[in-house]
Amino acid sequence: MFQSLRSKILSIYIFLILLICSIAAVSVLSLYNLNRAIDGLIESNYRSIVAATNMINAMERQDSNQLIFLQVNEEKGRSAFTNNEKEFFIWLGKAKDNITEEDEAEILDKIEMNYIKYLKYFSKLQQIKASGRERDAIAFYDNEIYPVFHSVKDACMGLSDLNERAMFRSKEKATVSSRNQMYSIIAFSLFLISFGLFVALYFINKTMKPMHMLISGVKSIKEGNLNQEIQISTQDEIGQLASEFNNMTKRLWQYEQSNIKSLIAERNKSLAIVKSISDPIIVTDNQYQVTLVNKAAETVFDISEQKVTGKHFLEVISNNSIFDEIKRITDGNEFANASNNLVTIIKKEKKYFYLLAVTSILNNDNQTIGTVSVLQDITHMKEVEDLKSNFISTVSHELRTPLTSIIMGAGLLLDGISGELNPGQKEIVEAMDEDGTRLMAIVNDLLDLSKIESGKMYMNLQQTSIYALVESCINPLLDIAKEKGIRLFDLVSKDIPLIYLDSNKISYVMNNLITNALKFTDRGGEIKISAKVENQLLKVSVKDTGIGIPKEYHELIFEKFTQVESESKNQGGTGLGLAITKEFIKKHNGDIWVESEPGEGSNFIFTLPLDRG
Ligand code: ADP
Repeated sequence: MFQSLRSKILSIYIFLILLICSIAAVSVLSLYNLNRAIDGLIESNYRSIVAATNMINAMERQDSNQLIFLQVNEEKGRSAFTNNEKEFFIWLGKAKDNITEEDEAEILDKIEMNYIKYLKYFSKLQQIKASGRERDAIAFYDNEIYPVFHSVKDACMGLSDLNERAMFRSKEKATVSSRNQMYSIIAFSLFLISFGLFVALYFINKTMKPMHMLISGVKSIKEGNLNQEIQISTQDEIGQLASEFNNMTKRLWQYEQSNIKSLIAERNKSLAIVKSISDPIIVTDNQYQVTLVNKAAETVFDISEQKVTGKHFLEVISNNSIFDEIKRITDGNEFANASNNLVTIIKKEKKYFYLLAVTSILNNDNQTIGTVSVLQDITHMKEVEDLKSNFISTVSHELRTPLTSIIMGAGLLLDGISGELNPGQKEIVEAMDEDGTRLMAIVNDLLDLSKIESGKMYMNLQQTSIYALVESCINPLLDIAKEKGIRLFDLVSKDIPLIYLDSNKISYVMNNLITNALKFTDRGGEIKISAKVENQLLKVSVKDTGIGIPKEYHELIFEKFTQVESESKNQGGTGLGLAITKEFIKKHNGDIWVESEPGEGSNFIFTLPLDRG
């Protein structure tokens, strides 16, 4: 049966109120009884004392009346005596109606008996007086009447004492009784309070228990333990809450189960994709332990995923260049979370080339928790490239000897060694000489490039003054600049510190940049060469006021055979100069870029690290 929480609390409340009421009722009742008992006792005793006192007073007055009768006025004494007699009997009657104590009736009988005797004596006294025997009358009063008077008075006082003592006894009794009542009330209250407390605690515990169960259920859900049911059988609101709670956890559990299933399915799908990718993939955690390798990686490194999972990378694959890269990315900061490197793997005495891309795996807080290394097989591309380079190198080399003799031959002919040439012949030979020289430059550039690409380029680093280097580059070009009407400014200061560099290569760079500037700047323009030190880097700039370069070419012009469309094609050139320049700068661990807008001139800037020595 449904019993609401409110009615339960109300029942406890009513129960407690009933307890308090019963304590109050018992206390009031016992106080009332006590009061009544004391009142009854004291009142009746008090009435007897008053009666006794009034009887004494009446008798004392009668005693005086007798003396008046004897010595002053007979008539007056007698009538006053009779009045007081009436008074005495009234109080005696009252005392008789109010007998409460043992012995009291006996004392009253004695009083009555003696008083009647006293009255009789007074009659006798009157007779004696009437007979004129004054002296006898006085003697009778002294000897007979007075002792009776005293005995009645004493008996009255005895009555008063008896009642007084009874009053004290009543008071004593009342005190004891009230104390006992007090103890009983305290004991009863204590009993009821403990009983009430016990019952209230029992009910509160019974009501709170499901609440605690609910709280611990909610806590355990918070910890992710969804598969649970709270056993609460109460029929109140908490019971209802518990059953709703159980419904909710059941649904959450089902939802989580279906989510886990779909997550597992998704994970398996992703895993299958990763496994089937033809490029080797290795996943490591931030302890450099292998957590996943795909089939391609198993084949390339001759390993099996089962055996290598959980092992340190170097234990599994003894390739330091891959490991160094993984370590760099794992330990690196936010700027080093991906990389591309060329890796060589020798397998069955054959060299394979892979492009290694290591990417960091980040958690929600952007912390690296591992890496994914993907190796792209570029062996074939590399072989083709090498073949091309070798071919170019061989062809260039082979072309150099015949070209030299053509240029030399043309020179000799122009010098008139085989007789003076006529103007037509001279023009033809000059053109041969010019084209031959240009071809020679191209061949030399191609040779340089193939040397760089095949790794046969050696660096001859020496402490060099950039000031002197720029000066030696500019000097031969001053005449050409003058001829073209271009002002050439050398703004490099003598104070620039010495720097370790290969002077032939950096001369080539300077030469290329200045001749390009001269080529692409119109008459009246100017070229400024400057250098400064910034952040441990030497920064050299060749700035012209020439035709400028569109933004889309800023990167491309550093590639082989790239020239900006239109005008530059007419300037001849091979499109190799900046490619070689870039390679030379890279060899020095430097960087090169261009800042330019079409029609606004160009500023070629390259940097070289100062701290190589
Ligand atoms: P080349 O000068 O032999 O063509 P480069 O590699 O030196 O080869 O230059 C590539 C191209 O870059 C040039 O053809 C030209 O289009 C552009 N370029 C280089 N320097 C400048 C410059 N200072 N002003 C404008 N264009 C330039």
